[in-house]
Amino acid sequence: MRPGTAHARVRYKGDDVGDQDGDGTAAVPMAEVMAEMPGVWRRLLAAHVPDRFGRCSACRTATGSGEKWPCSLHRIASQARQLHEQNLAQAIDTDRDG
Ligand SMILES: [Zn+2]
Repeated sequence: MRPGTAHARVRYKGDDVGDQDGDGTAAVPMAEVMAEMPGVWRRLLAAHVPDRFGRCSACRTATGSGEKWPCSLHRIASQARQLHEQNLAQAIDTDRDG
């Protein structure tokens, strides 16, 4: 008889990352990617503006009913702009520190 039993070490995979509840958190990764593409979010911000009915003029469909502004694309683009400006501010801080 062999001594000892093979104890399989059971490890629970910790899925801490990406399992957060909360409104709007899902849009952040997309905004982070977009933050490095200023041309993209600038164009989105320029195009996705509210019309006089408070609906996005860029997300308007053929039927005439647009998405209520700010639409999801505009929200992502404005988050991207914030991240972009934060990155710039951090870069300046780092530069001054040296
Ligand atoms: Zn839109």
